[in-house]
Amino acid sequence: MAINDKKDLISQLKEKGLKITPQRLAIIEALVSNCDNHPGATLIFKEARKKAKSVSLSTVYATLKDFSENGLIKQLEFDRMENRYDLNISDHVNLICKRCGKIMDYHIPEALESRDIARKSGFIVTDTRMEFHGYCRDCLKQPD
Ligand SMILES: [Zn+2]
Repeated sequence: MAINDKKDLISQLKEKGLKITPQRLAIIEALVSNCDNHPGATLIFKEARKKAKSVSLSTVYATLKDFSENGLIKQLEFDRMENRYDLNISDHVNLICKRCGKIMDYHIPEALESRDIARKSGFIVTDTRMEFHGYCRDCLKQPD
């Protein structure tokens, strides 16, 4: 799976002519170090503040919007919880726990990958949103 690391993100910012500021670097670091959690803006703000005191919540929102519009990260939108962000921009399934809100990446078979779909059906997939909802292992272990 192609998961962007800090170096990848910075070089993509440069490629796309986006500004690299200390605030943005702090946000990138917060994204990368919490990528397994698929963090939301609140967590990113809290973490980025530790690196750059001048980061505000609105900077975080604006930066995340900018990054996702430019394809650096993927925004996962939800009705019942805050939007979360995924550094894995390749095709995969997000397994979402209805109890604790944890989001895990799950590999999909080749037959469901965009390039395979294009090859077999001629259909060009521009967006995918694959979500399975349920309960994670940790939550299943805990009694209510
Ligand atoms: Zn859970």
